[in-house]
Amino acid sequence: MDNEQLIEEIKRLRREKKAIIMAHYYQTADIQSIADFIGDSLALAQKAKTTDAEIIVLCGVHFMGETAKIICPDKKVLVPDIHAGCSLADSCKAEDLKKFKEEHPGYTVISYVNTTAEVKALTDVCVTSSNARKIVETFPKDAKLIFGPDRNLGNYINSVTGRQMLLWNGACHVHERFSVEAIVKLKKQYPQAKVLAHPECKAPVLALADVVGSTAALLEYAKKSDFNEFLVATESGILFEMERACPGKKFIPVPPEMSETFDKDGNMIPCACNECNYMRMNTMQKVYDCLKNETNEIQVDPEIARKAIGCIDRMLELSK
Ligand code: SF4
Repeated sequence: MDNEQLIEEIKRLRREKKAIIMAHYYQTADIQSIADFIGDSLALAQKAKTTDAEIIVLCGVHFMGETAKIICPDKKVLVPDIHAGCSLADSCKAEDLKKFKEEHPGYTVISYVNTTAEVKALTDVCVTSSNARKIVETFPKDAKLIFGPDRNLGNYINSVTGRQMLLWNGACHVHERFSVEAIVKLKKQYPQAKVLAHPECKAPVLALADVVGSTAALLEYAKKSDFNEFLVATESGILFEMERACPGKKFIPVPPEMSETFDKDGNMIPCACNECNYMRMNTMQKVYDCLKNETNEIQVDPEIARKAIGCIDRMLELSK
């Protein structure tokens, strides 16, 4: 099947099976183009809660499929590539968090949504990068809080809320690698450009940013801004929606460390090499295959799901 036929077949199957295709901003442009709904982790969770579709094809990584399944236990949730994992979620194993909790009695556990269902089952309230600050600020300043698994996001939230949360020592391998040197050089090339950075980036990158926010927040800023050039320090899949939503504006992806390339005049050649290899495991062919055969269904142990739903519901309630 060529790409056109694939698109037509996906549309037909979606109609026949009463399915919804939801895609994260970090998916490839062709998948975002075919999706019924595109969003960040928070928006995907909110959409899963309200959709009346019978099948959810979640074009993202495994924990996103798990989150949708926990929210909608009666729906079939499919992920195009069931092996699409997440280095950040992998950095926090449930057994390690359990031990950490036992070592710190009386602490409330706040977990980023990028965690397994088992970790969510040990969590009091979940957050995304869209709502982390707001949710953390609902706790008193002296509350005993554990925040995991992203140390960079936790560190950033500590700095803007004045909290002193205990941080889990995890990170995303994509966001950890943005190059400070590259931002400095790109700023010389594009002096008018605003630097947009995701809070999973390291503190020195965030220190150079004009705007720190979730993918949805960075997109909103770009849409409303009077500026026309932006250096973007997050997964480069977001550029598809930024360029679509902001015609005439220029978005330059910040490269990771060690990958900066220069032209003969010493100017940096922007690259789109900050791609999450897990997110990019999903393809149009895999979207078609899983929808046609109803394969790659996400399963969550009902007992784990029962324990995990509390922290997601609490997040959705506090995000209103
Ligand atoms: S970009 Fe990072 S946090 Fe997001 S799915 Fe990939 S590895 Fe996980």
